[in-house]
Amino acid sequence: MDPRSDCIDFINPATGEKFGEVRMTTEEEVMLARREMAAAQSTWAAKPLRERARIVKQFQRVVIDAADELTAIVNQDHGKSRGDALHEIVMTVDKIHQYARLSPKWLGRRRIPPGLYFFRRYYTERVPYGVVGIIGPWNYPIDLMLPPIIAALLAGNTVVVKPSEVAAATGVKLEELFGRVPELAPFVRFVHGDGRVGAALVRSQPDLLFLTGSVKTGQIVARAAAENMTPFLYELGGKDPMLVLEDADIKAAAHWGVWGAFYTTGQACVSVERVYVHHKVYDAFVAAVLEETAQFSVGYSPDIDNPYRMGPLTFQRQCDIVNTHLHDAIDKGARVLMGGRQTGMFIEPTVLVDVDHTMKIMTEETFGPVLPIMKVFDDTHAIQMANHSDMGLSAYIWSRDLNHAKRVAEQVQVGVVNINDTMSHYPVSLLPFGGVKMSGNARTHGAGEVTQFTHTKSYAVGAPPHPLDPATMVRYPGHYRLGKAILGLFFGVTPQQRVEPVLDYLREDPTGQVVTRAAAGVGAASLVGLAAATLIRARK
Ligand code: NAD
Repeated sequence: MDPRSDCIDFINPATGEKFGEVRMTTEEEVMLARREMAAAQSTWAAKPLRERARIVKQFQRVVIDAADELTAIVNQDHGKSRGDALHEIVMTVDKIHQYARLSPKWLGRRRIPPGLYFFRRYYTERVPYGVVGIIGPWNYPIDLMLPPIIAALLAGNTVVVKPSEVAAATGVKLEELFGRVPELAPFVRFVHGDGRVGAALVRSQPDLLFLTGSVKTGQIVARAAAENMTPFLYELGGKDPMLVLEDADIKAAAHWGVWGAFYTTGQACVSVERVYVHHKVYDAFVAAVLEETAQFSVGYSPDIDNPYRMGPLTFQRQCDIVNTHLHDAIDKGARVLMGGRQTGMFIEPTVLVDVDHTMKIMTEETFGPVLPIMKVFDDTHAIQMANHSDMGLSAYIWSRDLNHAKRVAEQVQVGVVNINDTMSHYPVSLLPFGGVKMSGNARTHGAGEVTQFTHTKSYAVGAPPHPLDPATMVRYPGHYRLGKAILGLFFGVTPQQRVEPVLDYLREDPTGQVVTRAAAGVGAASLVGLAAATLIRARK
């Protein structure tokens, strides 16, 4: 690649206007960034965790101060409203706040029960990987970038970040914000550009890679990472189903289902992408959905008081995917009940019926303002359809009976289930989030987002082996019966298994001579004492 002269243009999708550009980072510069972060990592990791948290809090202050700048950039870069951009900042800052507060607890030393080595101490510590490469998407260009960066930093890593080329202006702004915290800036590097720059970052062999993006990119990066066995965490696409059961609150399901499908123009990984409705409530649900959709106004405004419910799609490729899925569905017999037309980068909120799983709209991620609704016979049918997917990010279940909803929820193959709402699980900063199947192997939100940027290092510490350690005794030859006594006493499943080998051991010494009752008593008492001590220590 020779992107030295290549620039990424910043284009406002609503107006088509260019509002800036950034030069693509060259391969050599990516390699240099990785080397610099490797050199800086020990300095950052050497800071006590509370000090790292203090510095992160300074960054939190900067983000809050910059809220208006950020919403203005995201509004131009992505097309979402200033209000939706602010919502993204709130979610982000909530996570930064919790991670800085709770990381000392999550990352602290953990004591491990000593097993049969009574006189030694065992514990684990969380160790940073080193340099983490973070590659992000465009759809939530703040919330999908800053929390993993901050989590990786709190864990003691340095970071090389590649924001999406589709939201490149936001990436440049985030870089600038890190520059406003001099104590943090030396430990984060941004590289800018498209997939070629992402590929260069993968080739630079960071110690851990974290990608949020599409399944297709995930597969490409997984193959490239495998070349060097680079550990790889990924948060990929979703095809989130909504199940409307026979006893659902239809009005609420329609209201929040429509919101979940069209919020940020359907460009969220947890958007409602397909709906399965019990046949007895199907007609009522479709009617309610049409009523709700009719109220979903479409437009763009750069003002903070934006009157529109839905903005443009963010770039042409996304429009192409939506139209391909729509045409494929219509060709195969689907009916458009509302919407479907495109003007510029705006596609109307679209409601589709008579859909089935031969259509892309029900099986591939659409990532646009389309709500396809399918009638199902019963719960089993709904669950089968929901699980008929390569992806498994989240799912939405609607029922007035929470036990009923929970029974269905347990059978749906996803990382998160939300009962009687859509998308409200995502902003909860401590609720683990992530998918199964091709949707990903990473977890964001909560302790897992921070700890996944570490590996555990175990320690076994103490004075030289103590002769009274049961496990040390059996390291010497000639203690077969003692070994069996320990095996039975500590791990026996039945009373007989526990007692018999101990009695065997007490009856005979290794040379076969009978020991005295007194010695047997002392031996038994010490074994029971050791067992009790082990149990007590194990429970600590
Ligand atoms: P994308 O896969 O096109 O791009 C993601 C990032 O990968 C971009 O920065 C891109 O430049 C980079 N990239 C592309 N090719 C690369 C390569 N060969 N090597 C390294 N990097 C490369 O995804 P997108 O369109 O930016 O984002 C939308 C997708 O992200 C959707 O599928 C959405 O569901 C998913 N997503 C998932 C989550 C989640 O938490 N699971 C959250 C948001 C978005």
